[in-house]
Amino acid sequence: MKIERIEIYPLVAELDEPFGWSQRWTSARATTAVKVIADDGTYGWGESGAADSMKSLAPLLIGEDPTLPEAAWQKIYKEIYQGHGYAGPGMIALSAFDMALWDITGKVAGRPVSEMLGGGSRDRIPVYATGLYYLENDYPNRMAEEARGYVEAGFTGVKMKVGGKEFLDDVNRVYHIRDVIGEDIHLMYDANEGYDVKTAIDFGRRSADADISWFEEPCNSYDLDANIQVRNNVPMPTSGGEGRKSRYEFSEVFAKHAFDIVQPDIVNVGGISEMFKVGHMANAYGVQFNPHFWGTGISLSATLHVAACLPSNPPSYVPEPYVNQTVMEFDRTPHPIRENLTDPIFDQVESHITVPTSPGLGIEVHDDVLNKYLQGSGPIVIDQPAKTAWGR
Ligand code: MG
Repeated sequence: MKIERIEIYPLVAELDEPFGWSQRWTSARATTAVKVIADDGTYGWGESGAADSMKSLAPLLIGEDPTLPEAAWQKIYKEIYQGHGYAGPGMIALSAFDMALWDITGKVAGRPVSEMLGGGSRDRIPVYATGLYYLENDYPNRMAEEARGYVEAGFTGVKMKVGGKEFLDDVNRVYHIRDVIGEDIHLMYDANEGYDVKTAIDFGRRSADADISWFEEPCNSYDLDANIQVRNNVPMPTSGGEGRKSRYEFSEVFAKHAFDIVQPDIVNVGGISEMFKVGHMANAYGVQFNPHFWGTGISLSATLHVAACLPSNPPSYVPEPYVNQTVMEFDRTPHPIRENLTDPIFDQVESHITVPTSPGLGIEVHDDVLNKYLQGSGPIVIDQPAKTAWGR
């Protein structure tokens, strides 16, 4: 069995209303889907960004066995290693290819990816609602309405943005949301790397009485010394790492105990193969593993399969999200592509999402939705192998 063709679909959807966080406002959602097709017609789906890197790396996969995702991962990694190419778009492209190869591997075996990884310990994954981004005229009533909606939908946890307004305005927003959701719902906030050390510590202390389950990305996640100072001086757990790539970038996070919680995103970290490894590294270091998610049903499914395989940390007869069990981000902000692209379109019940049980990732992609949001007249097609000679 060989990989015969790779189709790359850069997708963009305009939003009806822009929303913001500490770094910027956005008026569109974007992703890049990739379809890897084998010579017998079996295909797999992946998702990330970095279409240009996908285009340049895809020829390395033409002619390779799609049911050997680790071998393919190592081949691509070798290509992007020198010059630290793995720190950027190369690893993002590899993340998508890896998902697609696991999808094919599962389909060929007739088993879901979670079983191909060795078998899961859970058939549904706890999730929390990510929303409460900044909107025009959102405070206090629109924020309250949105937060109340998550509680009424059954979520047991809600995450909001901070760092995008003046300091005291954001403090007041945190207490406002706590008042709205009541004392039994987990509340997290995310500064998206928007504070320096002093401001992050001040913010954590000023808002601590709102009972915060974690303070996400207080400072630049590549500045571990800054994050360690924050972690040592605020009363709530801290988290980060959604932009970090590969086990190599996470190794120093674990070695320095920079966060209480790591949040790799499967579209950045290196796909299913690497997410699985980083999850087990977190387990070994006693760090909670709560994945980031901001994509479509493709990367959501891939994340669910990995999360299903990771045990409570530490082992427990009482697995509990926010305590010893993975709880996953479930982006609820507007995303016309996510809301229509896949079957199933995942939803939560009682703050959990069921892990797909059909072969591979367990999803299908709607061609009409792909074509509706596709940039350009057709997908980027790669069907010729790389000319470079590769050694194993
Ligand atoms: Mg975040």
